[in-house]
Amino acid sequence: MSTTLTGACPECETDLTTPPMIKGETLACPECMLTLRVEDIDDGALSLQMVEVQLRDWGQ
Ligand SMILES: [Zn+2]
Repeated sequence: MSTTLTGACPECETDLTTPPMIKGETLACPECMLTLRVEDIDDGALSLQMVEVQLRDWGQ
């Protein structure tokens, strides 16, 4: 099995390779610096969605 996942930034279409992640995790696109959230993982391919950057008020 592959130990990396691949995906593409929905904004700038940069190809991304990441270590294994799980649904709901977020990463920052190295090109456009957008925050992306893992929406789904299908056979090593990430489905990424932009996340609105908000104040970090979660966790209360
Ligand atoms: Zn990007």
